[in-house]
Amino acid sequence: MIGRMCIGLSFALAVSLASASRALATDDYTLPFYDPSISLSYGVDRDPRICYQRDWANVLWTDCNLHYGRVYDGHTGMDYPMAVLSPIAASRDGTVIDLFEGFGTQQFGTNGNYVLVSHADGRRTLYYHLGLNGARVSVGQTVAAGQWIADSGCSGQCYGAHLHFEMRAVINGRWTSVDPIFEKRFTTNPGRVPFLATYLRESNSGTEVIKRYTTVTHWVEFVNAGGRTWRNNIGTGRVLLGTWNPPTRDSKFSALDWPSSWVATNVDQNAVPPGGVGRFTFGLHAESPPGVYDEPFDLLANSLRWFDWPRLGSFHVPIQVILNSRFGEPQE
Ligand SMILES: [Zn+2]
Repeated sequence: MIGRMCIGLSFALAVSLASASRALATDDYTLPFYDPSISLSYGVDRDPRICYQRDWANVLWTDCNLHYGRVYDGHTGMDYPMAVLSPIAASRDGTVIDLFEGFGTQQFGTNGNYVLVSHADGRRTLYYHLGLNGARVSVGQTVAAGQWIADSGCSGQCYGAHLHFEMRAVINGRWTSVDPIFEKRFTTNPGRVPFLATYLRESNSGTEVIKRYTTVTHWVEFVNAGGRTWRNNIGTGRVLLGTWNPPTRDSKFSALDWPSSWVATNVDQNAVPPGGVGRFTFGLHAESPPGVYDEPFDLLANSLRWFDWPRLGSFHVPIQVILNSRFGEPQE
């Protein structure tokens, strides 16, 4: 069940996402953070080869002039304003090949703290201006898309706390910073934080009435509104439905099909690409005495990140346990 106010909005969002899903691939880059309210606001680099670019405010520029705060040349990445020490996520699976984290979190200077990740498609991503000791990974470490790899800061040539995110590729035999906006033409899944979902529907949006000592089957569907494919067959990044408030709480209603006392189920499908719909089917078994209960759940990308619960419509299952006369219980 979700709050009544959220249903219309969630459904409208789900429809718009579904129509946008066709162009998306499963192995592309996602935004390197989790907070969906973060957006470009310092302006983005324009590729001087084309002088034609849509900026963060959806304004199309067709000249080669500088428009400060909108588009400009001579800058090699995308700047995302965010508070210092905000979590930074790997934008794709890869291997950490370099890092530095010795400058102060807001130490101004020629150079700043960074993490550099190499990806299987031959490209690299750079996460720059990090905080002191802001790397949560080590050189040589394998990272998964969406993994928390660093904490942001304002080290180096930084005039306001932000993440400088940069993509690099080999062009004409040498490493080159490429314009991520321009590169959207071959990274078809940009502009999405890794883990985001919206409520779509469930098998019973009212109260589940369960006879004591019996099990009912419940399912819920969420739209994958994030940038990472959901899977059920790998360890890291496998998306599961776990108990919430507090997280990993032992449930009184776990059934035989639950993977653990706090994991109700993994996503049913092998893969749910961005824009797709994931279904989560699980049993609810009543051992508790007759009465009224409520079970909140949240999605978890295993080992990586809990989803934002309010964006799931604060998903929970109201439950009423009733007497089961077969077991000869006395009336209470
Ligand atoms: Zn920058």
